[in-house]
Amino acid sequence: MHTFTYEKPLSIDKAAASGGRFIGGGTTLVDLMKLGVETPPALVDVTGLPLTAVEALPNGGLRIGALVRNSDLANHPEVVKNYAVLSLALLSGASPQLRNMATTGGNLLQRTRCPYFRDLTAGPCNKRNPGSGCAAIEGHHRMMAVLGASEHCIATHPSDMCVAMTALEAVIHVQGAKGQRAVPISDFYKLPGDTPHIENALESGDLITHVELPPAPNTRQMYLKLRDRASYEFALASAAVVARVEGGHIRSVRIALGGVGTRPWRSHEAEAVLTGKAATPANFKLAAEAALKNAKPHPENAFKVELSRRCIVRTLKMATA
Ligand code: SF4
Repeated sequence: MHTFTYEKPLSIDKAAASGGRFIGGGTTLVDLMKLGVETPPALVDVTGLPLTAVEALPNGGLRIGALVRNSDLANHPEVVKNYAVLSLALLSGASPQLRNMATTGGNLLQRTRCPYFRDLTAGPCNKRNPGSGCAAIEGHHRMMAVLGASEHCIATHPSDMCVAMTALEAVIHVQGAKGQRAVPISDFYKLPGDTPHIENALESGDLITHVELPPAPNTRQMYLKLRDRASYEFALASAAVVARVEGGHIRSVRIALGGVGTRPWRSHEAEAVLTGKAATPANFKLAAEAALKNAKPHPENAFKVELSRRCIVRTLKMATA
């Protein structure tokens, strides 16, 4: 049996100095500990820290504490009113029970659902055991990524919330050994390259304290998730759209994709196609083509390329209708 220590500090400084593995809702970490994938020697329960508030910022943005539960965030009046894409994404994730436990900080750090990563006996996995190989490339890879993969890892990023936050250009605030710092979500997630075990910009001991969303006034927002069953399922393809539309033309747009990338996938290519153009199905199709232009599918997940294109077109239609 794997043993570990447990402590529950009540100050951010104490938690950040603890040197242990942070645990909030536990909806990812406890699973992975039961499976033997994660074996932290010390758990630091952060649920006693004062990071549970959702607060409007003077600039019109929103500050979200790292311990705000997914269900509370999805139903918060400010989120429903000004960040509908985030509310929709959160409510499409997991199950009500899991959303009641999972935290904002934990959702940002969700790990992949690749079956080879989660099963110690299923085959080699570079993410779990660096340098061992990737069983998914020659094995079952229907759920895997078609954008951002490498010859060392093709695992999909599993979160819905992070896709919406990518379209909203969230900024992640971290308390670390060198003090506080802010990391734009576009810089937070790493491509797998030849180090798929390094998933984000956090350094040892870093604690996510809160997330800030910039203001998104006068925008139309939508999140659409396509999956094998209607609930409690990960995305095959999803899209988040935040657009400003005037006189039938797209003045600005941000598009992020889920279910198809090794990280929450911002499509600057699709945005460039649409900016300044008429909000028409023909232009939406051109944008979707651009978004998937560099897709590199494997035999079992080739269907995701067309599925993601259709998801983008449909989400744009719904957002601009
Ligand atoms: Fe591991 Fe990534 Fe390969 Fe899955 S895709 S087996 S997580 S290296």
